[in-house]
Amino acid sequence: MSAQSVYFFGNGKAEGNASLKNLLGGKGANLAEMTNLGLPVPSGFTISTTVCTDYYKNNRQFPDQLKNEVSEKLTLLEKSMGAKFGDPSNPLLVSVRSGARVSMPGMMDTILNLGLNDETVAGLEKKTNNPRFAWDSYRRFIQMYANVVLNFPTNLLENELEELKEEKNYTSDTEVTAEEWRALCQLFKKTILEQSGSVFPQSPTEQLWGAISAVFSSWMNPRAITYRKLNEIPEEWGTAVNIQSMVFGNMGDDCATGVAFTRNPSNGENKFFGEFLINAQGEDVVAGIRTPQPIEEMQASSPKAYEELIAIQKKLEAHYKDMQDIEFTIQNSKLYMLQTRTGKRTAHAAVRIAVEMVKEGLITKKETIKRIEPSQLDQLLHPMIDPDAKKTLLAKGLPASPGAATGRVVFDPETAEKWAKKSNDALILVRIETSPEDIAGMNVSKGILTARGGMTSHAAVVARGMGKCCVAGCSPLKISYERLEFSVGDYLIKEGDWITLDGTSGEVYLGKVGTIQPTGNEDFAEFMSWADSFKRLKVRANADTPQDSEVARGFGAEGIGLCRTEHMFFNKDRIAPMREMILAETKDSRLTALSKLLPMQREDFIGIFKAMSGLPVTIRLLDPPLHEFLPTDPEDIENLCTTMGVSIEYLNRKIESLHEFNPMLGHRGCRLGISYPEIYQMQARAIFEAAAHLLKTEDLTIEPEIMIPLVGHPKELSLLKKEVIQIAKEIEKENNTSLTYHIGTMIELPRAALCANEIAKEADFFSFGTNDLTQTTLGLSRDDSGSFIGKYVEDYEIYEKDPFQSLDQAGVGQLVKMGFERGRSTSPKLKVGVCGEHGGDPKSIHFFDQVGLDYVSCSPYRVPIARLAAAQAALATRSD
Ligand code: PEP
Ligand code: MG
Repeated sequence: MSAQSVYFFGNGKAEGNASLKNLLGGKGANLAEMTNLGLPVPSGFTISTTVCTDYYKNNRQFPDQLKNEVSEKLTLLEKSMGAKFGDPSNPLLVSVRSGARVSMPGMMDTILNLGLNDETVAGLEKKTNNPRFAWDSYRRFIQMYANVVLNFPTNLLENELEELKEEKNYTSDTEVTAEEWRALCQLFKKTILEQSGSVFPQSPTEQLWGAISAVFSSWMNPRAITYRKLNEIPEEWGTAVNIQSMVFGNMGDDCATGVAFTRNPSNGENKFFGEFLINAQGEDVVAGIRTPQPIEEMQASSPKAYEELIAIQKKLEAHYKDMQDIEFTIQNSKLYMLQTRTGKRTAHAAVRIAVEMVKEGLITKKETIKRIEPSQLDQLLHPMIDPDAKKTLLAKGLPASPGAATGRVVFDPETAEKWAKKSNDALILVRIETSPEDIAGMNVSKGILTARGGMTSHAAVVARGMGKCCVAGCSPLKISYERLEFSVGDYLIKEGDWITLDGTSGEVYLGKVGTIQPTGNEDFAEFMSWADSFKRLKVRANADTPQDSEVARGFGAEGIGLCRTEHMFFNKDRIAPMREMILAETKDSRLTALSKLLPMQREDFIGIFKAMSGLPVTIRLLDPPLHEFLPTDPEDIENLCTTMGVSIEYLNRKIESLHEFNPMLGHRGCRLGISYPEIYQMQARAIFEAAAHLLKTEDLTIEPEIMIPLVGHPKELSLLKKEVIQIAKEIEKENNTSLTYHIGTMIELPRAALCANEIAKEADFFSFGTNDLTQTTLGLSRDDSGSFIGKYVEDYEIYEKDPFQSLDQAGVGQLVKMGFERGRSTSPKLKVGVCGEHGGDPKSIHFFDQVGLDYVSCSPYRVPIARLAAAQAALATRSD
């Protein structure tokens, strides 16, 4: 005996139930569950998703026994409804709908009124005593079937209807008479025959199998494939097919159809919320042709059905213990339930519903934490594109920093600054790629769009830190700084034109697109405190300034995991001495530049330590890939010449001599510290002076964690560590005090992970720099991957996700695990964290939790997401 493929539901009993979602799809499983709950569900049956999977495995052939099973269930259905399929005097009509495990709204096909033909239409006419309704139903069926099953160009039929209306001077379909619908049905069938050469099928059984095949086939239509990719739905899941007896909401004024939510899906309020249309079919509500009425008005038009619906929605929510999205139809004053499912909701609503349901005793705190998708919290922190807004897509790049921004295009950071002073218009800074000198322009812009660069490129990292929306690596853009324009496809966008960015999806739209602002949410703090009570991983922030540190603390950061000290010099007033230092020819001139940098750093450290008082702060010594700091703009070069008192020729030669073929693998990180010890000495001094100052003036004990970047060999670390300790001793002596501090390293190179046992002997802590570790392990430049990584992920599925966004667990993940284990093998107390961008990615956070790291560190705006993901990771592995 082969396994059951078709599951019946009807008359208060179903063969399936809600737990069989994988087999029956979401719709089918819930129809079965509602039937078992004794709710008024029109009878029907569900063909399982396994049939769909087998259908594709067997070259689109159905298994032999399916015909028998369907015919058995059809007989049951006929009995249950007291009507017969194809019976001219008392026809059974059915709907045929898709239904995957998770809802894929509008992606697959549906057919209504199946079973109608030239004979049964007469039966329907007699049964309803409503010829207009019967013929209208038939013509709808012909149109739908022609479109979905016969792949017939439906505009031909649509045109015929339009011609009729024009001829008769009708403005709406409701004016078309029964006779005219009848004539139109004949015309439709004739057109189909003439154009396709086939007769419109009259046999209900043939219609049924045509429809079943079409629904299964629609699993592979391009829009369903795209939707699956976007939502990470595996192809193997397949769809189920639901065949259910029709109920009609369009048979007269005592009929209606509607959609409702057990709570408000946009603000979460615990109030039944929905819309309905009198005398309409389900699709009319969604299609938006007529404006539906608020659900409360149903009380007046269908009081009994309304009362029943209120009781049912309460029952459903209590049963499923979650907000439900329901569909119903009223036929001749009788209520029928057509669907229930977990309702989609905004993040705002999700948090409120979760918190209130816990307080109502409906669910536990643990359940609420598992329920909310961490990335959804972005909506609470950034503006988002209005889902109802009309938009024209220009191009798609990498979703580098979430949120949405509409603004005028500006290509030059200085122009951005000038415009920002003159007008309040929002700006979008469009650059081929960004560099530190663009920072002021980035700061005054609402969003940043770059043609080059990956998820961890300068623009992306800085924008995330600022909480600004950014689309990076948008390679279809052809930018001309000379002509102040960019072209993309057929569009030419000039400076001053409006565009809109969606940094959450990476999409770039033409013109102004409506955005919705994040709203405050009083339940959020409570919800997050529950998340914190479950998580094991600590969550720190990557913050470089006192302001960022305050923002991070506000979002619940438990310290700073990475302060990139070179970012402290992105500021316009500070970049000159930084460049002076990089370009210095002699130790003396370098020391002069460093002496200008020292007080700036010290002040910043004081600010950061204060903002984080009591929490750990990891400060990374200078790690500038030099190219990020060298001036390229002639004006900048000239200004720097004046400051340094050198000629332009000299400076250009110097810049030339510092040119590196591969700066990301060049003279950066600890290599710079080894070449020029005075740089790290200055930084260590700034850190310790700040700590000593706070101890003296505010009695604040700071335990700075000093981090040496890009270490590959233990000797690099031991050498630099000695110098840092020496400086600490000097400051202790100068201030007659004793300081506590820790010295550790980043693990960013495969060699560091491989030799972690040796490196750990020198280190108090490790922090995995997974941006560089990804770059160096994959041999894939983080700045250049943007132009092709989309193909790798979306077209060829080589990597499941951009490896700079979500950790390549199979590759880089092994090095993280190995580095962690080897490090702990020689230093069991070694504190280990991660501070690459993956520290804010929920999937990667699960992995880091499993490996056993102590903390993750991410940009301030991702801290709440990381906290929730860390809690979910802990709950996923805990047995209690
Ligand atoms: C890293 O490499 O992961 C890291 C955090 O450092 P940066 O991004 O500054 O190179
Ligand atoms: Mg790095």
